[in-house]
Amino acid sequence: MYEDLALYINGEFITGGGRESQDIINPSTLEVLGKLPHATEQDLDNALEAAQKAFESWRHSSPMERSEILRKVAQMSRDQADEIGRNITLDQGKPLYEAIGEVKSCADHADWHAEECRRIYGRIIPPRQPNVRQMVIREPIGVCAAFTPWNFPYNQAIRKICATIGAGCTIIIKGPEDSPSAVMAIARMFHEAGLPKGVLNVVWGVPAEISDKLIRSPIVRKVSFTGSVPVGKQLAALAGAHMKPITMELGGHSPVIVFEDADVERAAKMLARFKIRNAGQVCISPTRFYIHQDIFEQFKDTFTQTLADIKVDDGLKEGTDMGPLAHERRLTSMQQFVDDATQKGAKVLLGGEGRDDQKGYFYMPTVLIDVPKEARVMTEEPFGPIAPLVPFTDHQEVIQEANSLPYGLSSYVFTNNLQTAHMASNEIQAGMVNINHFGSALPEAPFGGVKDSGIGSEGGQETFDGYLVTKYVTQV
Ligand code: NAD
Repeated sequence: MYEDLALYINGEFITGGGRESQDIINPSTLEVLGKLPHATEQDLDNALEAAQKAFESWRHSSPMERSEILRKVAQMSRDQADEIGRNITLDQGKPLYEAIGEVKSCADHADWHAEECRRIYGRIIPPRQPNVRQMVIREPIGVCAAFTPWNFPYNQAIRKICATIGAGCTIIIKGPEDSPSAVMAIARMFHEAGLPKGVLNVVWGVPAEISDKLIRSPIVRKVSFTGSVPVGKQLAALAGAHMKPITMELGGHSPVIVFEDADVERAAKMLARFKIRNAGQVCISPTRFYIHQDIFEQFKDTFTQTLADIKVDDGLKEGTDMGPLAHERRLTSMQQFVDDATQKGAKVLLGGEGRDDQKGYFYMPTVLIDVPKEARVMTEEPFGPIAPLVPFTDHQEVIQEANSLPYGLSSYVFTNNLQTAHMASNEIQAGMVNINHFGSALPEAPFGGVKDSGIGSEGGQETFDGYLVTKYVTQV
């Protein structure tokens, strides 16, 4: 059964009532899965009031109570992963094994927050005079407004919800309208786990209208967004105008550097599989491939062959490696990237087109060579299954090239030379550097970008930092 779609405000699931709604479309078949109600102005006011009221008691809740609820949700995520994953495949398109994997890995996120929220420590500062006691206390910041995207609908939402709730804050979250089942499932599980009413509220609607209203509201004290750089900058500006701290997990354009001493076959195969994960709609997807000239031909052949063997189909079908893009606008965007590159001299080695034999938003894995620097795909985040391959010879020049964009989210290095690995990890401007493997996005490790790719980290021991304020108390 597909999730019942509703608003979740003050502990109640709300549907109907003459509210506007939108159809939810399966991107593989274009079938309508359900209708998503949009919040009215009054619904948003109710959510704000509920979150504010709930904060008065939730801020004093024991970390043990918060931990217990988070643990229950972790276990429910594991128990219900198959069913929730199936719904994610239906409304987002990714293959079933990826969708189920997303839900299971999120159980670990909930567990991590359940553990770490019991360790939100303050400190004692040695006083200058006897009898004085100086303390630093970390307190929950208040009501948070969060906005999460459609590419990892479960993961992006649960990270923000667990961090907020674990810190003792309350939250109003606007999930992704295109793929809402994951956030609905999360709300249902927190409800069943006994979360007090008003601590978590879920709203849907026109993104710009909801974010504008929530960020301007004096009730909201913190803004957290995952999505594109342009939208992130707009929301950050509005939050800044109202002096509200932000966590921004924005886009990237992750460079891959394969040095001449790398294990070429292994790198090419691993990178090809990683590239098509979630049809390339991943903020940390490898997107600019710099390959040393000496190994370029070998890498190109293995990489292209591995992608040619990828089975692109409905994510529910057995054996599917890559599903459709999540919505029609991504399909248009892919063709524009490829057309722009070929007009500027690039050659299409593989793909470069959709699938005429299918109704859905399918785009084939695409490899481009001879891509000039001016091509849009080299400077704008493609967010799809396109891989431009570029040869290099000089180590310093390739690092400069990797750092040449305003993005700084993830990066990938393949080398068997320890000094080259050190040099690359020191010099690359990115929030995450993966050397010879892919190891980002674990609950215990910080996830976040630098430069235009964002502000703040999620996960790791930093995970609560954005949801706490520091209070200094001195007493005689
Ligand atoms: P988009 O910029 O229109 O939307 C991106 C996300 O932001 C969506 O979830 C959307 O609902 C939300 N959003 C848009 N305007 C908003 C507003 N004013 N207030 C609050 N939320 C708002 O782009 P899109 O076509 O949906 O996605 C494509 C682009 O988004 C990609 O190119 C990629 O850069 C970015 N993206 C990044 C991530 C990430 O994990 N960092 C995830 C999804 C999308």
